[in-house]
Amino acid sequence: MYNRRKFIKMSAAGASLAALSTSKIARAATMAPFAGVPVVISTWDFGIVANKEAWKTLEKGGRALDAVEAGVRIPEADMNNHTVGRAGYPDRDGHVSLDACIMDEFGNCGSVAAIEHIAHPISVARLVMEKTPHVMLVGEGATQFAVEQGFKKENLLTPESEKAWKEWLKTAKYSPVMNIENKQHAPGNQYNHDTIGMLAIDVKGNISGACTTSGMAFKMHGRVGDSPLIGAGLYVDNEVGGATSTGVGEEVIRNVGSFLVVELMRQGYSPEAACKEAVNRIIKKKPDTAKNIQVGFLAINKKGEYGAYAIQKGFSFAVCNAEKQDLLIPGKSFY
Ligand code: ASP
Repeated sequence: MYNRRKFIKMSAAGASLAALSTSKIARAATMAPFAGVPVVISTWDFGIVANKEAWKTLEKGGRALDAVEAGVRIPEADMNNHTVGRAGYPDRDGHVSLDACIMDEFGNCGSVAAIEHIAHPISVARLVMEKTPHVMLVGEGATQFAVEQGFKKENLLTPESEKAWKEWLKTAKYSPVMNIENKQHAPGNQYNHDTIGMLAIDVKGNISGACTTSGMAFKMHGRVGDSPLIGAGLYVDNEVGGATSTGVGEEVIRNVGSFLVVELMRQGYSPEAACKEAVNRIIKKKPDTAKNIQVGFLAINKKGEYGAYAIQKGFSFAVCNAEKQDLLIPGKSFY
């Protein structure tokens, strides 16, 4: 058991280590770290703006669930973001189909998969959680539910996405290699990828999470990845912590990745060690596949300590609390 003072000391030490290992992003390394709550963390560099939005709710003492929904709606709405939400790249038949899920501190959860024509799948997922007896709606049923709930039906295939799709059709080569082109990955060169997974702890210490994506670009029509699957792309247990994932969803699903990370934290693993072990399971089962793909996990525990780990270099995550807004790069990767 830690008292408040000890907890602050311990969190700061943990965060210092994280910051030291992230010297590539100068700001992260130079800020005095403090892993206090409320806190919000999210995947990739677009997590910075998403966290800022989530923070507006958290700093007012609002609920983590409201914060994560509001936060991930920012990349969902971003017309320059082709991996999440309304400007996401289509599947190989030209359909933009989106996946999202959300989970609160009571273990309630909602999800939509392969939903089309709706720009904010995370908000539909929340309504599935709150207004239906179900956890998950897919495809046409999800769109129908969204329209019944007042969401606008839109054509989400932007001219830019259509151009990229038509270019892809010339070879129609489906090679789901993700993120390792990430040498260009740096602040100012944003939105190359991926899924936004966000985890927040509010002032009451309650944890919620959200995860939303357009999935793999040019995927098979009907393909669903890890992101809308509770336990794979996202999992929250208010007693322990939360986890979320990004990268090649098939490998995350095979290992029920986010649930695994939370269960490892329950056993005493730190967030980073839990993420590392989950990544390691993927590598152990399919070493040859793992060499050529990216999967990253991000986790937070009940104390507000956070960590991440990815198969490949290049994964980043954003952190925001009363002390800072940073972009961190996990210190190590397997390749
Ligand atoms: N995990 C997502 C999926 O497989 C994609 C990503 O994070 O890049 O659909």
